[in-house]
Amino acid sequence: MGSMEKGRTIVGWAATDPSGVLAPQTFTLRNTGPEDVFIKVMCCGICHTDIHQIKNHLGMSRYPMVPGHEMVGEVLEVGSEVTKFKTGDIVGVGLLVGCCRSCRACDADIEQYCNKKIWSYNDVYTDGNPTQGGFAESMIVDQKFVVKIPEGMSPEQAAPLLCAGVTVYSPLNHFGLKKSGLKGAILGLGGVGHMGVKISKAMGHHVTVISSSDKKKVEALDHLGADEYLVSSDSSTMEQAADSFDYIIDTVPVNHPLEPYLSLLKVDGKLILMGVINTPLQFISPMVMLGRKVITGSFIGSMKETEEMLEFCKDEGLSSMIEVVKMDYVNTAFERLEKNDVRYRFVVDVAGSDLQQQ
Ligand SMILES: [Zn+2]
Ligand SMILES: [Zn+2]
Repeated sequence: MGSMEKGRTIVGWAATDPSGVLAPQTFTLRNTGPEDVFIKVMCCGICHTDIHQIKNHLGMSRYPMVPGHEMVGEVLEVGSEVTKFKTGDIVGVGLLVGCCRSCRACDADIEQYCNKKIWSYNDVYTDGNPTQGGFAESMIVDQKFVVKIPEGMSPEQAAPLLCAGVTVYSPLNHFGLKKSGLKGAILGLGGVGHMGVKISKAMGHHVTVISSSDKKKVEALDHLGADEYLVSSDSSTMEQAADSFDYIIDTVPVNHPLEPYLSLLKVDGKLILMGVINTPLQFISPMVMLGRKVITGSFIGSMKETEEMLEFCKDEGLSSMIEVVKMDYVNTAFERLEKNDVRYRFVVDVAGSDLQQQ
């Protein structure tokens, strides 16, 4: 009895302390409310942010915690007010599952900048219960935060787009950098950086990868399709590249000097920061004044942009480089990701795994 009142019992893989080791646990999901979509998880990507959360690097982790914010699944049930989805649809859920719906950001459909946004895991939902992410049997999510996966796109391919993909797409879209013929650079070649190369190329840009060594040169040029490769410590080629970029997507997650990159930008060029760096960055003001250059940052993308980006990736036939693993490999995958030992995204085949089995 009581199961309808109390919600559904499901299995998810949770971290229970800052060691960050995931293991099966049972959870209760709320019953399907009028605006809710009940989703059976098919697969879920592993994002670098998940490491910080499960290991409490930011000091705000609540346990037990089921991570995972690049989730693709199948709709099993919809609430009475749900208009966007029906049973059987293949859908995605990213980093957010709630917002206030009345602030300036929410009114402007950029709910990712709402101060009351609710994260898809390691947060508390409006009913007072903890939110749990995609490394679980199922999720229940308000329809506003669910996107349709375009027909013909595989769930595994779609997963990394829901965080890494939209993170790159959103600033290019917002700052008017979607038009073809631009010259862009991607600084740092991890999960987001690799997606940056793919999406910028698909937009018709000339794309340069900038890295601290030539270790990733073959990878960038031959496998990802970048046009050029620049080693940041090579001062003569850096000088030759001065004043040449419309934008630089900076994905480096540790403190680094900005001036070498600011000097690469054209007049009105934009340095878009995407790495979470908790120590102050430095530059001298003429570096931005002489050239009206912009240093900015951007955080994921709106639900609207996520839908747009998925369609764009589908139309362009864009694919991400992924390694699909089963759930019992997830802890090893996290260890490898921490060592940067993956090209470029792990995606966990949740539906194809025995979630009870450790
Ligand atoms: Zn992410
Ligand atoms: Zn809001």
